[in-house]
Amino acid sequence: MAHSNGPTTQIAHVYRGTFIHSTHQTALQLLEDTLLGVDEDGKIAFIGKGAELDRLSKRFGFSPSEVTQLAQHEFFMPGLVDTHIHAPQYSYTGTALDMPLLQWLNTYTFPVESCFKDLEVAQRVYSQVVKRTLRNGTTTACYFATIHTDASLLLGKIANDFGQRALVGKVCMDRNNSVKHYKETNQESQEETCRFIAELLNKKYPLVRPVVTPRFALSCTGALLGQLGAIAKNNNLHIQSHISENVEEIKLVKELFPESKSYTDVYHKHNLLTDKTVMAHGCYLSDEELALFRETGASLSHCPNSNISLCSGMLDVRNVLKHKVKLGLGTDVAGGYSASMLDAVRRTLDTSKILTIQNPEHDTLTFEEVFRLATLGGSQALSLDDQTGNFEVGKDFDALRVNVAAPGGPIDMVQCEGPKIILEKFLNLGDDRNIVEVFVAGRKVVPFAE
Ligand SMILES: [Zn+2]
Repeated sequence: MAHSNGPTTQIAHVYRGTFIHSTHQTALQLLEDTLLGVDEDGKIAFIGKGAELDRLSKRFGFSPSEVTQLAQHEFFMPGLVDTHIHAPQYSYTGTALDMPLLQWLNTYTFPVESCFKDLEVAQRVYSQVVKRTLRNGTTTACYFATIHTDASLLLGKIANDFGQRALVGKVCMDRNNSVKHYKETNQESQEETCRFIAELLNKKYPLVRPVVTPRFALSCTGALLGQLGAIAKNNNLHIQSHISENVEEIKLVKELFPESKSYTDVYHKHNLLTDKTVMAHGCYLSDEELALFRETGASLSHCPNSNISLCSGMLDVRNVLKHKVKLGLGTDVAGGYSASMLDAVRRTLDTSKILTIQNPEHDTLTFEEVFRLATLGGSQALSLDDQTGNFEVGKDFDALRVNVAAPGGPIDMVQCEGPKIILEKFLNLGDDRNIVEVFVAGRKVVPFAE
């Protein structure tokens, strides 16, 4: 068993039952009859076998009668990591999926996002999206907000209030000719980004951090991209944007940035590819571009629902993994119509199977691999894998307590099944009715406190 060098803080909770997670070596590790202790800081203090109860209780100073025992159809898994989601777009999720990307942005997205200048709108929608994603097991979310600084700060506050781990980005765009009132001047974008970062950091929210967010190359001048690269570097911050999502977009990027060798090179030239960068999509990246991701440590967020819903393209995840580029999954609400990461898992598997239909040589992803991408992979893509992503001593306890046989839930258990089958059923058939409790950094955040 793994353990720290002795209890430094008090044990707050001990759970006993099945734990399922991924490691770097294995996509699926099933830990049956396991004891896991969480300390008062919300960190995993020990993981051991059920048979070691007496020894562990003495060593870590807890009473065996305080252990919470999981039921037969229950298990713990790591919290889901949504590496790409647009919080304001939650207001029209499930609709407006009848256009390709650039027309979709002009027709639906920009007019809706411009309304978030109004803090009442932001309060309402941002509370809904944080609650909905938490209920669906998203313990970590990497959010795009809008260009509005105060509304973006409000999103950070709401995530903190509900206890979600979040990266929050105030969107930057000093180029937008379609919806004229939804853009900033270069100076505004820079100054407001600095104000956003300073004010959000000043709140000292333990789990919420700012992320530098150029919307994408088409909506930013080269000057702004360079300034944002410098701001991220000077403050050692995360960076997020979009890349190589749609063929028409790629063509326009080439026209706007003729001096760059590729779309990836546009960001690289402006110092926006670092080991804390996550780029959404990447459907059409060349092997050369993937090599640049690998070299810089930048990662990709695979958003299959969005890629299919907007007819953007299909990312070959297997090829990305072969290039040893870090990759997580994203819902990309509202280009993706579901805010649930379970949907992202299913669409990732579907996309991989479609690639196999098109080319039988394609090495289809397994559900175990996709489970890892949705948890540990996401934490790596966001460079948060020292804090979350799986069950390791010293990491924060970010976890879902899943009951596949939850009363009134979507899954009928016909017979007693082992943990691997139970997990597969949950990933393919489950929903928030099966997610009976959600923990972030040891704190129970679902069911919501009244
Ligand atoms: Zn997006």
